[in-house]
Amino acid sequence: MRQTRRSHLASLLAVLAAPATLRAQTGKRVIVIGAGLAGLSAARDLQAAGAEVVVVEARDRIGGRIWTSHKWPDLPMDLGASWIHGVEGNPLTEIADAAGIERLETSYDAAMALDATGREVDLTATYDHAEALIEEAREAAEGLYEDIPLADAIEDSGDWDEADAATRRLIRHVVNGSVEAEYGGSWREVSAWSFDESKEFDGGDVLFPGGYDQIIQHLAEGLKIRTGQVVTRIAPDGAGVAVTLKDGSVLTADHAVVTVPLGVLKARDIAFGADLAPERAMAIEMIGMGLLNKCWLRFDRVAWPADVDWIEWVGPEDGFWSQWISLTRATGAPVLLAFHAGDQARELEGLTDALTVDAAHRALMAMFGADFPAPIDAQVTRWSEEEFTWGSYSFNAVGCTPDTRRALAGAEWEGRLVFAGEACEPDYWGTAHGAVLSGRGAAKVLG
Ligand SMILES: Cc1cc2nc3c(=O)[nH]c(=O)nc-3n(C[C@H](O)[C@H](O)[C@H](O)COP(=O)(O)OP(=O)(O)OC[C@H]3O[C@@H](n4cnc5c(N)ncnc54)[C@H](O)[C@@H]3O)c2cc1C
Repeated sequence: MRQTRRSHLASLLAVLAAPATLRAQTGKRVIVIGAGLAGLSAARDLQAAGAEVVVVEARDRIGGRIWTSHKWPDLPMDLGASWIHGVEGNPLTEIADAAGIERLETSYDAAMALDATGREVDLTATYDHAEALIEEAREAAEGLYEDIPLADAIEDSGDWDEADAATRRLIRHVVNGSVEAEYGGSWREVSAWSFDESKEFDGGDVLFPGGYDQIIQHLAEGLKIRTGQVVTRIAPDGAGVAVTLKDGSVLTADHAVVTVPLGVLKARDIAFGADLAPERAMAIEMIGMGLLNKCWLRFDRVAWPADVDWIEWVGPEDGFWSQWISLTRATGAPVLLAFHAGDQARELEGLTDALTVDAAHRALMAMFGADFPAPIDAQVTRWSEEEFTWGSYSFNAVGCTPDTRRALAGAEWEGRLVFAGEACEPDYWGTAHGAVLSGRGAAKVLG
């Protein structure tokens, strides 16, 4: 029988008025907790499969660790993720294509390095040496019965033993740039066995000149999202789940998909009304929550070489003001971005914005000369102080393997509760695409 709009509306109203048991037959009711990439991806797939989905988000904004600042209206700045890492076969490429979002490629060839006095140096041999040393240290660690921190493996190596202070300083610079800034964990926390055990997509890296939040807006289209709703408790409830909000109200559904960051799970900000599987509880403890902070600086003019994207500074202190990106070559904008990771990021978070900008300016004067202009504005992140994240992204701490993440992901309580989010992705953890894949995987678990 052909359905008219009116008969369709009548049957829809009947479904809405029906008791919960009947609704369960016409479509599963699912509460997705968290409106980041994982939550929105799960919600879209579940809704497309016929489930009744509501997304519950603690913050007043959606996107989670995708967070585009529009403080500078002419230059949207991403305070969370900026890049699609590896565009070929990446689910984010497919989403950006579907949404028609402009992208810009970042070139890693347009780079320069400076020593503490501001002299340009060639770090090619340093990188080759340090990377060989890291590999040698890892291989030696793999011969041990137990995993150890990467720092211990490096410091136990013969090469480190023989290296003078200047060489050790250069090795630390490489470890900071290629391990700590990449994975967010200090070299004293990351696993020597598995710190980089993840997969990558091929192709270059691109960023969004109009902001990463365009992806979020696209994914959120057509979804029912409740912002400003902090979940405090999830418990089994009959054949389904009950989700308690901070204001005391309770939502019920057949299933809940939890996509809150690992930092929130570690902090036990959400209580679980029944035990989690011991392997899942252990995974929450074991996987590390890393820290990467951004300091965006805007100037009245470009006072650095305009043809480079990446600037490294082997300054007086390990990991402070050592990694920079210039937006000038790609966009023409007089904007620099400094990254800090791990311990150094945590230490800098203790400074006010004004003191942070002052420290940045002093570093830039050491790099490029005393007449380097002071920034005219800045945007500084403090991800370890963000209540609904408590860090930037997960890393493989000592003892972690892909199986640790598999233990965190997936279903609990006979399928009523499903875990997702970047930390749950065994192959692509710590990334935006990992979050999308994990959210899609959670929808499949329920499908
Ligand atoms: C500084 C920085 C730079 C990065 N750079 C890149 C990059 O260039 N490329 C890349 O691929 N990846 C990058 N990443 C990683 C990437 O951003 C994340 O892996 C990804 O966005 C995580 O998505 P998610 O959905 O798992 O978690 P989230 O985006 O954190 O979403 C979880 C949601 O849960 C909500 N929530 C938390 N607690 C509660 C609660 N109690 N109740 C209700 N809701 C709650 C949060 O508010 C949040 O919206 C970066 C991350 C950071 C922080």
